Amino acid sequence: MHGRNYIDGQWRNGGARLATTNPSDLDEIVGEYDQASVADAEDAIHAARRALPAWAAANIQLRGDMLRKVGDALYARAQDVGTLLAREEGKTLKEGIGEAVRAAQVFHYFAGETVRHPGQWYNSLRDGHNVIVSYEPVGVVAAITPWNFPIAIPAWKVAAALAYGNTVVLKPSEYAPGCAVLLAEMLEQAGVPNGVFNLLLGDGRSIGQTLIDGADAVTFTGATPTGRRILQMAAPTMTKVQLELGGKNPFIVLDDADLDVAVEAAAQGTWGQTGQRCTGSERIIVTKGIHDAFVERLVQTVSNYRVGHALDPQTEIGPVANQAQLDKNLGFINRARADGAELVAGGHVKEARTRGHFLAPTLFLNTTNAMELNREEIFGPVAGIIKVEDLDEAIAVARDCELALSSGIATTSLKSAERYRRASNAGMMTVNAPTAGVEYHVPFGGRAPSGFGGREQGAASAEFFTEIKTAYINHGVV
Ligand code: NAD
Repeated sequence: MHGRNYIDGQWRNGGARLATTNPSDLDEIVGEYDQASVADAEDAIHAARRALPAWAAANIQLRGDMLRKVGDALYARAQDVGTLLAREEGKTLKEGIGEAVRAAQVFHYFAGETVRHPGQWYNSLRDGHNVIVSYEPVGVVAAITPWNFPIAIPAWKVAAALAYGNTVVLKPSEYAPGCAVLLAEMLEQAGVPNGVFNLLLGDGRSIGQTLIDGADAVTFTGATPTGRRILQMAAPTMTKVQLELGGKNPFIVLDDADLDVAVEAAAQGTWGQTGQRCTGSERIIVTKGIHDAFVERLVQTVSNYRVGHALDPQTEIGPVANQAQLDKNLGFINRARADGAELVAGGHVKEARTRGHFLAPTLFLNTTNAMELNREEIFGPVAGIIKVEDLDEAIAVARDCELALSSGIATTSLKSAERYRRASNAGMMTVNAPTAGVEYHVPFGGRAPSGFGGREQGAASAEFFTEIKTAYINHGVV
């Protein structure tokens, strides 16, 4: 694939080309992408600004119909999109197709949101008056996205922004931009007017400030340090900011848990999608009564995973997405061993039929919450088990972490589940289910420093993508 920038309805060549390689097969180039310049970024912002009044005023059925067409195209091309995603990011083909289908569902949901999103009407304290609260587009939205969900995250930002009448400049990750290029083609084919959606490729650092200065709002998903930087960059212009950032998500297993359910949820939450999910479990906190039985079963499960080429139908865990990420994972593994954690599964690079970034799914035992392994986001197929006395200690350990995105508990006690639902400091929590795997119609996001500035997905996304207007009407009828 040769990916180009899409600005004001035109595909534009230019700039240095960045190549992506297949993490399952380092000998395969997947795509070459033209890096956007600062001038391209300025042009994209200006195009989005020019297109804004007409799009904001566009008939809501028309806006919805266009979004529905994009959803239809994503469904129809789920195999292509999923295959490209698997080749460029390293998710298994099944996971890649699943993500493409999720992106389709997101577009269909927001197609309906154009007609569903309500305003409010109040009686006034003043006789002969009433109050209307309406929601207006926030304006030009810059969307900056990471590599780990290269179609779902662009979809949930772009669909929401367009549904509420905003125009968009999307800057996907330089590590996996191919799916965003396909999305731009689908938006063009759906008839989205020139300038309403624009795509810029390449590294965010060179054009980030231009986007933040020119946009009315920036929605960002990525690492917490980058999010902090974006917030600082947005301060002088007071550009509205939404940040979806890193996690270090705890999964608690209590003595009364159903062992099958607990093992399945812990394993899926930890190693699914190669552990490269912000909502993945990285700290498994287990009470002492079930500890040994749970560990035995979990080690069995993790050791049996088939790691390999993402397109191989037998593969259950694909490669780590890129060299930098693999080096980072191995660094965490080496330091955890040096800190005294006991390696019970994985911990090493695996050979496969092709040259790729294959890392055996890794589990450490006898870890403490003080270890780096349990304090910093790894973002790979690596987790540690922490043994605790009881629910009280489990809650204290779970909360003893700066990051607060997702969390989970395995228990058959309604009382313990409800206690943890109240005690968790994370933005999302699950009972007897993996910490990852949130659906498109409900709010998604974490508390600072895992998130900032309003939730994404579902009706909650209107908080960020709209501005409120309160209108007093003196109609004179008493
Ligand atoms: P990253 O922060 O390195 O990059 C994310 C995006 O920001 C990329 O498009 C990059 O080009 C751009 N960028 C980098 N510096 C910039 C700057 N100065 N100005 C503007 N843009 C800039 O993150 P990543 O490695 O792509 O993704 C992994 C991280 O994303 C993990 O920490 C993960 O937890 C997080 N994540 C969070 C969520 C969530 O919803 N909370 C979802 C997925 C991933």
